[in-house]
Amino acid sequence: MSDLSPTLKLAVDLISRPSVTPEDAGCQELMIDRLKKIGFEIEYMPFGEVKNFYAKHGTSGPNLCFAGHTDVVPTGPESEWTIPPFAPKIVDGILFGRGAADMKGSLAAMVTAVEAFIAEHPDHEGQISFLITSDEEGPFVDGTTRVVDALMERNEKVDWCIVGEPSSTNTLGDIIKNGRRGSFSGNLTVHGKQGHVAYPHLAENPIHLVAPALAEMSTAHWDDGNDFFPPTSFQISNIQAGTGATNVVPGKLNAQFNFRFSSELDFDALKVRVLEILDKHQLRYDIEWTYNGLPFLTRPGNLVDAIVDAVQTTVNITPELSTSGGTSDGRFIAKMGTQVVELGPINATIHQINECVDAESLNKLSTIYTRILKNLFVNKT
Ligand SMILES: [Zn+2]
Repeated sequence: MSDLSPTLKLAVDLISRPSVTPEDAGCQELMIDRLKKIGFEIEYMPFGEVKNFYAKHGTSGPNLCFAGHTDVVPTGPESEWTIPPFAPKIVDGILFGRGAADMKGSLAAMVTAVEAFIAEHPDHEGQISFLITSDEEGPFVDGTTRVVDALMERNEKVDWCIVGEPSSTNTLGDIIKNGRRGSFSGNLTVHGKQGHVAYPHLAENPIHLVAPALAEMSTAHWDDGNDFFPPTSFQISNIQAGTGATNVVPGKLNAQFNFRFSSELDFDALKVRVLEILDKHQLRYDIEWTYNGLPFLTRPGNLVDAIVDAVQTTVNITPELSTSGGTSDGRFIAKMGTQVVELGPINATIHQINECVDAESLNKLSTIYTRILKNLFVNKT
């Protein structure tokens, strides 16, 4: 594979390193070597077991940050892979390997895009940075969120951020994510009184007590969403109660639920409404909340415009803005007041056996990233 493009060569080198989360397996050093050569200042920012780095080129003006992760999800049974997951190979124009689409292909495209841009514009305006973690697929505790906290503490400003998550659906650049819904979960325990089913007046059935409250929550209208977000959704994921015997009224019930919420609402507002419903039904309960992240939204503006133009010019399609899908590290970066957009390759095979990506699409992605840099720092309108 000696005649590969610089982007594909780097993608292959990255995929060859088995960086199953939270391992980095030398991927960051590979990127750091390349960035040092073109004058980036490197800052190692490890937290706990997790490797992270922040790198920057340029000293003043708006800061465009490329963000991503070097860790990958586990391979699943390696015997089911046609090509070993960490021995990447291009077959009929398709690059196979764990991380090809999520997201070592994007990391390679970011590095080569910046190399090409700096070769042409060594004294560019503005600042270019990289925020790279090896803990996006894992518990995401010591990764981007910690780096963002450290950057905020010293008032580092990041104006724009491109996250290389695989945002595309059918063809490169058809979808860019300009936001993500917020997510939080509730773990509800409802207390009753255990007893014999034949003597219900001596027992208190938590299933009967909570059923109307859960029905009310599952049919409630939480908001209408807005131009960028669908309405907030509520789903019950687990309910447990009962001893297994058919003649026993259980003493308690546990239910877990999750909200995916739009930028119209926040955690506190939803919490208040849930508690109102539970109290209205006069339940005796305990509840624990797990907060997974705020929604974020990047409205059309200079970053979105620069990206839309770059996609149109390179692959001749107009991307659709979307906020669908799960969460990503973009939610942590948005806390800095940063405009965040996700743009990466097709996500059809991510986390699957035989993960793959169209090889040529990575070369095009690199061209798109370079064009975005030009749009923001050179051909400003
Ligand atoms: Zn990813």
